[in-house]
Amino acid sequence: MRTIPSRDRLAHDPTDVRDLADARSDFPSIGHHPDRAYLDSAATAQRPAQVIDAERLFVERDYAAVHRGASEAVGAATEAFESARQKVARFVGAGENEIVWTENATDAVNVVALGLSDASTGVGDTILALRPGDEILITEAEHHANLLPWQKLAARTGAVLRWAPVQADGTWTIDGLRAAASDRTRLIAFAHVSNVTGYIAPVADVVELARSVGALTLLDACQSVPHLPVDFGALGVDFAAFSGHKMLGPTGIGALYGRAELLNALPPARTGGSTITTVTMTEADFLPAPQRFEAGTQPVSQAVGLGAAVDYLDGWGMERIHAHETELAGLLTEAVAGIPDVTLIGPAPGTPRAAIVSVDVAGVHAHDVGQFLDARGISVRVGHHCAQPLHRAIGITASTRASAYLYTTADEVARFGEALAEVRGFFGADR
Ligand code: PMP
Repeated sequence: MRTIPSRDRLAHDPTDVRDLADARSDFPSIGHHPDRAYLDSAATAQRPAQVIDAERLFVERDYAAVHRGASEAVGAATEAFESARQKVARFVGAGENEIVWTENATDAVNVVALGLSDASTGVGDTILALRPGDEILITEAEHHANLLPWQKLAARTGAVLRWAPVQADGTWTIDGLRAAASDRTRLIAFAHVSNVTGYIAPVADVVELARSVGALTLLDACQSVPHLPVDFGALGVDFAAFSGHKMLGPTGIGALYGRAELLNALPPARTGGSTITTVTMTEADFLPAPQRFEAGTQPVSQAVGLGAAVDYLDGWGMERIHAHETELAGLLTEAVAGIPDVTLIGPAPGTPRAAIVSVDVAGVHAHDVGQFLDARGISVRVGHHCAQPLHRAIGITASTRASAYLYTTADEVARFGEALAEVRGFFGADR
């Protein structure tokens, strides 16, 4: 097994000539299914042996409770747990006190939404508490994880949920968002990269808009952090959410990023052990972030696995992974663009997008498309991809999505395009 060189030697090293194709041998699942084209990394990514091994070694050798007690075992486990947090923080341009472990991205969004619904104060000029008539602004393209928590927050506070509509191709525009904003907007929550269309949001413009109306921002970074260099501090967002399992790490762990002063002012959504300084029978004082949010026994080995995933991604360098996926995005759009009666959703070929391509095949239900592709050894996602409003807005109920990662090859994309071109004929939809 190849060992991962350190970040210092490899990240963005222009003299490094290793081929990203070598990465495939790191993924045991690819070895187990050599004929399968796994084009479903936007749902969940496969894991390299380095991540699986790091988690197993930790469990075998260093496993213990963290932040509890004074034994050598607890010390070693706590160090591994906190070192994973430091790695993740550095990876996304955050301070280590600005990364809160959560179950996944969905949980991270909920921590913010529930915290805001309990907030009674503000921090500096920023008002955290929402009042009736205040507005929460999102887009019609959001994953349900970045929609339902805001519906609930609106219902609890009397705030109003507003959104930028999607256009016929499923993307939204900064002008649409501006038109939906007002001086009552308190929060703008949006996906960095759409899990349906691969659309890449104009984050700087949204942050500028939010600041101009005095709103906070929450970035759903689920589909960006695994695939592009992302620096939350430089982007200037207030909160961000992402999941370990989409970035080569374990399930059961994700992270909430928040600017330290905001996290320290946000009420913890869940309370319990490990979150407090003092407790009496009637009240509690909470620790500063991140501990104030991490109630109960934490996903310790999963955090260690996520730290190893960050090491692994850093080993290749996010610039290089992004460049590879940009090429694959071009190949994916080319592969589907010329097929009659197959409609590409999202940015047109030749415009920037992530390596996520969803299509509508006229006359064939997405589930049939998926089954046909599966019979050819091609794993894609079919359905509404937890984005029903987006699909409804463009007049379909479901689509077929292919998504790539660092281990995806041009040959796999070509197989997808060839098989897709046969779907309508197979089902007689072309007659
Ligand atoms: N947002 C986006 C854009 C996503 O793609 C996903 C996962 N499909 C989520 C949020 C939710 O992620 P998780 O299920 O890991 O919480």
